[in-house]
Amino acid sequence: MSAPVVIVGTGLAGYNLAREFRKLDSETPLVLITADDGRSYSKPMLSTGFGKNKDADGLSMAEPGAMAEQLKAEVRTHTRISGIDPGHKRLWIGEEAVNYRDLILAWGAETVRVPVQGDAADLIFPINDLEDYARFRAAAAGKRRVLLLGAGLIGCEFANDLILGGYEVHLVAPCEQVMPTLLHPAAATAVQAGLESLGARFHLGPVLNRLQRVADGLEAHLSDGQVIACDLVVSAIGLRPRIDLAAAAGLVVNRGVVVDRHLKTSHANIYALGDCAEVDGLNLLYVMPLMSCARALAQTLAGNPTAVSYGPMPITVKTPVCPLVVSPVPRGREGEWHVEGQGADIKALCRDAQGNLLGYALTGAAVMEKLALNKELPPLLA
Ligand SMILES: Cc1cc2nc3c(=O)[nH]c(=O)nc-3n(C[C@H](O)[C@H](O)[C@H](O)COP(=O)(O)OP(=O)(O)OC[C@H]3O[C@@H](n4cnc5c(N)ncnc54)[C@H](O)[C@@H]3O)c2cc1C
Repeated sequence: MSAPVVIVGTGLAGYNLAREFRKLDSETPLVLITADDGRSYSKPMLSTGFGKNKDADGLSMAEPGAMAEQLKAEVRTHTRISGIDPGHKRLWIGEEAVNYRDLILAWGAETVRVPVQGDAADLIFPINDLEDYARFRAAAAGKRRVLLLGAGLIGCEFANDLILGGYEVHLVAPCEQVMPTLLHPAAATAVQAGLESLGARFHLGPVLNRLQRVADGLEAHLSDGQVIACDLVVSAIGLRPRIDLAAAAGLVVNRGVVVDRHLKTSHANIYALGDCAEVDGLNLLYVMPLMSCARALAQTLAGNPTAVSYGPMPITVKTPVCPLVVSPVPRGREGEWHVEGQGADIKALCRDAQGNLLGYALTGAAVMEKLALNKELPPLLA
């Protein structure tokens, strides 16, 4: 048998690439390898599970066996690759070597962890895949009070969703506003006020130093001296592209695994896409870019070399209490922000000296304007 196309990862990047590839090539042997259980699910739905009343099984869309059949592929679950040997076109799973024709890294990003003192660090839950989510749901059953670490996009989405699920939520983050790297302060104020109107309590500035078991739950000791009573902690303090195995194999890495517009790494026959990939300098941890990459890379793997390009890619944040759509200013562009509206309905627009729209943040009723504004936005990767 000729060596297969091997995809590492069965997240949205891995499975969508496999699907796009099979539209073009139904014959080449295809193997998908994943460290998790290989169920197909949409990760963005993890922060809507309580509002939609769905547990981990409810969010799963297909078992790995069904995916294997649909994709005419072998899907190896609970299998962690441990090394890559680009010189011999093979990878390692412990002692086992697997040869590849082409290798695609779609192994995602991992949650950033911070050290916390105390005897209850095991009650800090990262939620970055369906199995994490199942563990969290099991631990949260019958509990009432959740402390959320991080006030970024994912922290705010979980805050909204957990409150819909009936939990009391405290957010702790060492920044001055929610979504600091993403959002104009006026829009951040609107989102925070929306979450507060639901009952969320924000503690912006301090970090969690110590988490301790007490008689009726946990005590979270913050760096500013506050002590918050809670039952468990969700960590949403950020994601870091997985690069270690790639670096160890001699592939060029930066923030992510470095690839060109053809999604090719610094080694022949090895490609990357999704959260782990830095595409022409851009590491975007969202679904839209990985879908564009999957379509382009499928063409390349099927013998038709195709470069990826990104149009505008605004992000819809799932905080139903205060709808939010944001399109950050592309790298290397500078402009001035103008803010209109008040309260929950904010329209913040960034324009360059010529008046061209570079980015925006829309909240509340202002999100209605997104379609018109999207037409004016510059592409992210022309
Ligand atoms: C709560 C939440 C909400 C989100 N909401 C949105 C949203 O609304 N809109 C949006 O655009 N984006 C959203 N995102 C981001 C989006 O979900 C991700 O960008 C996308 O799912 C990444 O897909 P991926 O396939 O690259 O990575 P992943 O889904 O992380 O998949 C990685 C795969 O690689 C496997 N793997 C890792 N290491 C190894 C190894 N050594 N060996 C074998 N397998 C390995 C894993 O098991 C897994 O199968 C959200 C993310 C989160 C966490």
